[in-house]
Amino acid sequence: MANDSAESISREVVSCMQCRLCETRRNAVPGEGSWSAKVMFIGEAPGEQEDHQGRPFVGAAGRLLTELLQSIGLRREEVFITNTVKCRPPNNRPPRKDELAACRGFLERQLKLVHPRAVCPLGNSAIRVLLDSNESVTELHGVPFEKDGITYFPMYHPAAALYTFALRKVMEEDFRKLRVVLDSLG
Ligand code: URA
Repeated sequence: MANDSAESISREVVSCMQCRLCETRRNAVPGEGSWSAKVMFIGEAPGEQEDHQGRPFVGAAGRLLTELLQSIGLRREEVFITNTVKCRPPNNRPPRKDELAACRGFLERQLKLVHPRAVCPLGNSAIRVLLDSNESVTELHGVPFEKDGITYFPMYHPAAALYTFALRKVMEEDFRKLRVVLDSLG
């Protein structure tokens, strides 16, 4: 899309009616952070808090994400945070194939505009959408690889670490590895 802009993507997201999720959302959640971020984090879908506030990762999982970012010297404002779908699925069910497909264009436009050096899919949904892979986060997390000039660095979804405490240590270690990857990208 020629002359695309952050404002037009966000404006289109908040008024989008391309799938059934618009019927049950309170607020669409376009994403936030720096549109010139070096690294972009992509979760699955907004949850209840995000739906209330219209902002990504502001609930319990978001607080953990913010802490993990801070642990490697990153502020939320300097990265870009979004989701594979921009509206909350009812009862936080996983997004369906047609919903992912309807929302995909927004994610692609955000990726094109932010043009990050590194992209971190958080959890299996984002891995499936971004990497077109059926390999699970258990196999892929914490190992960078390059595709189309972007370094992908899959990570566990922070919500997983809220349920399984041992994963928190794994995520802390993966964030330390991410710091090294980002530093190596200059
Ligand atoms: N989980 C997600 O995948 N995204 C959010 O924005 C919040 C929780």
